[in-house]
Amino acid sequence: MVATVPDTKLDWSSYHNVINGELRATSKTRTAVNPATEEALPPVPVSTEADVDAAVAAARAAFPAWSKTSWDEREALLNKLADRLVANLPEFTDILVRESGKAIATAQIEAMFSHTFLRGLAALRVPEEVVDDAKEGYKVRLRHLPLGVGAGIVPWNWPLLIGLFKIASCVIAGNVIIVKPSPFAPYAVLKVVELARGLFPPGVIQALSGGDDLGPWLTEHPGIDKISFTGSSATGKRVLASCSRTLKRVTLELGGNDAAIVCEDADLAQAIPKVGTLAFLFSGQICMDIKRVYVHEAIYDKFLAGLVEFVKTIKTGDPNDPDTLVGPLQNSMQYEKVKELFAQIEPQGWKTAVGGAPDLKSAHAKGFFMQPTVIDNPPEDSMIVQEEPFGPIVPILKWSSEEDVIARANDSKMGLGASVWSADIARATRMAEQLEAGSVWVNTHFDLSPKVPFGGSKWSGFNRELGVDGIKGWLEPQSLWVATA
Ligand code: NAD
Repeated sequence: MVATVPDTKLDWSSYHNVINGELRATSKTRTAVNPATEEALPPVPVSTEADVDAAVAAARAAFPAWSKTSWDEREALLNKLADRLVANLPEFTDILVRESGKAIATAQIEAMFSHTFLRGLAALRVPEEVVDDAKEGYKVRLRHLPLGVGAGIVPWNWPLLIGLFKIASCVIAGNVIIVKPSPFAPYAVLKVVELARGLFPPGVIQALSGGDDLGPWLTEHPGIDKISFTGSSATGKRVLASCSRTLKRVTLELGGNDAAIVCEDADLAQAIPKVGTLAFLFSGQICMDIKRVYVHEAIYDKFLAGLVEFVKTIKTGDPNDPDTLVGPLQNSMQYEKVKELFAQIEPQGWKTAVGGAPDLKSAHAKGFFMQPTVIDNPPEDSMIVQEEPFGPIVPILKWSSEEDVIARANDSKMGLGASVWSADIARATRMAEQLEAGSVWVNTHFDLSPKVPFGGSKWSGFNRELGVDGIKGWLEPQSLWVATA
């Protein structure tokens, strides 16, 4: 079953599709842009429908044998992939900085999480269950069967990590996968699938890069059984509609508008830098970055002053500088979208506590840079509170009653994450239990584990990724009844 292991040294100058264990070029190519310099990165394939058909055919051919391997065999191979990733970690970190514009310290976190989550997900198991007391005279086994061919559709913000969430969860459950990176950040995903070549049988892990038509070709394809999608809620709805035509199984990890509720007894020395960091990490372009901060009126002025001081210390600029926290926005489209939000500051009468300049173009000849900005107590119904900005701009809002702040935090179409910050853990937990979100944290935010299901409620998602629940999303339950009497 396991092919010979080739040299794991990667050539970082050329990028290919991986189809049926081979590196395949396409007649057309495109390039993505380094968001810090606006320079073109190397060419990547632009897949055709024929490439999709070839990958699906290879996946279907690989599935029967792969689905019969044991969980332990699959874990061993995924762990070998993690070893190969570790052997190439500096190069992966470098490409993440160049393709996403994230600060090198953040790229190092992504690279480290990528191999640890790969191992963590590979260690999960969904054992068969026996329903002892189902009915007298019967033995009932609940089996969990792999679905078949999966496709993973990946966004540009955590390409390697999210790509590996999908690869590991799909493959450990006995399925095969085709991964599609974002056209804005395709490089790390193509390389990690290249790294899997030779380790896994041909057709088990494949990658296709392409333009805007590639995602819909995958969601429409009758040979694909499940789509695991991470991206915006608007695209997620299109994916779900498309998948309905072939009744594909679907997992959607979508946008967020995470609220952090800071109580009057919170430890501000701990909360301010943590909230500040998690609001501006990767320039606010992470689904579970803190996007609304509700601060109790008794400490509002103190918290705001502390946050402003903290934001002034945030290093913004060259993502290769180890001290940088906020690099550029990832692409010109996102940059223009966030610029429109900044343009609303004056006409809407929003009070800027720090930042507010539309861009840092004066300081940087090139690159999609923006100033970290805090908006002081804007109206609850303003766009900056109601919508996911996905940029380095965050509103701080005042609250006085628990009931009111919980209602305001919940008054959102989004429900990805939320947090409560207080010295009184019992009170904070009681408040947290009332928040409508897939992940809720007390005195922290953003924590993830391969063992803990992650995903959103409401318009933030559909089903879960990670944890045993995430793996179950790649399995079809089968109840097997054997009459014994
Ligand atoms: P996006 O929705 O524009 O694109 C995501 C992926 O979908 C890309 O690979 C894209 O090429 C593909 N795609 C686009 N149109 C498609 C279609 N019609 N059918 C199939 N695929 C299609 O999102 P983005 O701009 O890359 O990422 C940012 C968004 O993702 C934000 O809203 C963010 O909150 C969200 N996000 C969510 C999570 C999570 O786990 N919940 C994680 C990261 C990002």
